[in-house]
Amino acid sequence: MIIRKKYRVEMGHIVRNCSSKRCSHSMHGHSAVIEVLLQGKHLDHAGMLYDFGLMKGTVKQFIDMFDHCFVFWDKDDPDYIKDIQHWSDRWIALPFNPTAELLSLFFMDAINFIISHTTMLNGEDEDLVCTGVIYHETESGYAQCCLKDLDTMWDSNNLFRFQLSDAVKEDISQDLALLISRKSGLLITGTGVRINPGCTPYKQVNANPTGQPNDWR
Ligand SMILES: [Zn+2]
Repeated sequence: MIIRKKYRVEMGHIVRNCSSKRCSHSMHGHSAVIEVLLQGKHLDHAGMLYDFGLMKGTVKQFIDMFDHCFVFWDKDDPDYIKDIQHWSDRWIALPFNPTAELLSLFFMDAINFIISHTTMLNGEDEDLVCTGVIYHETESGYAQCCLKDLDTMWDSNNLFRFQLSDAVKEDISQDLALLISRKSGLLITGTGVRINPGCTPYKQVNANPTGQPNDWR
């Protein structure tokens, strides 16, 4: 069984080293639509593969970090990076060129990391996995990755080497910030985020907040 959830972000970038001069020499934005495919082998106590509501504070929030953001390759020209950081409150520095292909791999890797750190409380498949991300950069063009692409086109060391601006950090939950900071070694210290180093691992998802699993409600 596969379920799919769509997200949308407005994001600006430049793609370096590509053939199209418009992409590589002009700052521009896209209304990106990101389709997330989750696959599992059995249903939860409600008869669902994975309640989309459970993704709001996790996968959705992670993707939403990129909304109204300018993203750039951290190996780009230092003057260019400096100007973005000066003129845009929301930016994310990425350890890779921000192409649709690499962003799809990045999101798939990140979503699988997040899901693997989420407690399943309503009988959801413990082996639930994101088997694909379709990253629509434009109305007519998208990149679609699958799990095996992680082996040949992606370096998982990239996953948490990104840097967030303070404005981005301020918008994310403490739990997500903690998860990211623990993995990356980056201390998230935005004013809206309070880090408790003694906090338990990322287990905030509660599929059944008022009753026991198997309750008929
Ligand atoms: Zn573009």
